[in-house]
Amino acid sequence: MRKNIVAGNWKMNTKIEDGIALAAGVEKWVTDHPSSTGVIIAPPFTHLSEIKKVLKNVALSSQNCASEVSGAFTGEVSVDMLVSVKVQYVIIGHSERRAIYGETDAIIAKKVKLALQAGLIPIFCCGEVLSEREGNIHFDIVRRQVEAALFSLTETEFSKIIIAYEPVWAIGTGVNASPSQAQEMHKFIRSIIHSKYGETAASDLTILYGGSCKPSNAKELFANPDVDGGLIGGAALKVEDFTGIISAF
Ligand code: PEP
Repeated sequence: MRKNIVAGNWKMNTKIEDGIALAAGVEKWVTDHPSSTGVIIAPPFTHLSEIKKVLKNVALSSQNCASEVSGAFTGEVSVDMLVSVKVQYVIIGHSERRAIYGETDAIIAKKVKLALQAGLIPIFCCGEVLSEREGNIHFDIVRRQVEAALFSLTETEFSKIIIAYEPVWAIGTGVNASPSQAQEMHKFIRSIIHSKYGETAASDLTILYGGSCKPSNAKELFANPDVDGGLIGGAALKVEDFTGIISAF
């Protein structure tokens, strides 16, 4: 079902004690302010198990997973390992994974499939770089990313997916997409899902916006009919900022 969600991607930040304090602060705020908005945090792998212990009303995500099931893949973390420490969501296809670690559409599609098979909910990220927007091919890029990663899923599998539209030029830059740019792309994504999976899948789909979202702009971004919340980077590292964004709903 379509749900409003605010998810925090901590990236490679916090040591364990800071991470536990941050998670506990978010958990306390969420518990004190009950609402229908789903709140998810995605700490580094090393923190997941400990942080799970302080969470009740906040869900837990990892920032990545391996594209293989198990075996000789030094340094990788499998979907089954994540499930074994009670992780519920996994961010897949973040632009930093695509750009810095060379993750292709094919690798991302494999991860989405494995995550679903293990019972994890993928938060699938897509979005164009600045030159692609300036070249007016941003819709083509996002369509390609979505089709490549998701269109081999069955309807039942697709119904579990969350999509995050994250224009790469807006990530960590302080320059967010305007509310109308976000709405336009979210509506486009919903329309391509509609043509592939039908009306119910499209209207039930949660599409998050990510890219320099903060308490001061969250309200106008989230006010759009096709923007169902946010995937938050920098502003997820302070309880006050992150909860300020959650309050935008
Ligand atoms: C992100 O990396 O997913 C992100 C949205 O980062 P920021 O909020 O810092 O732009």
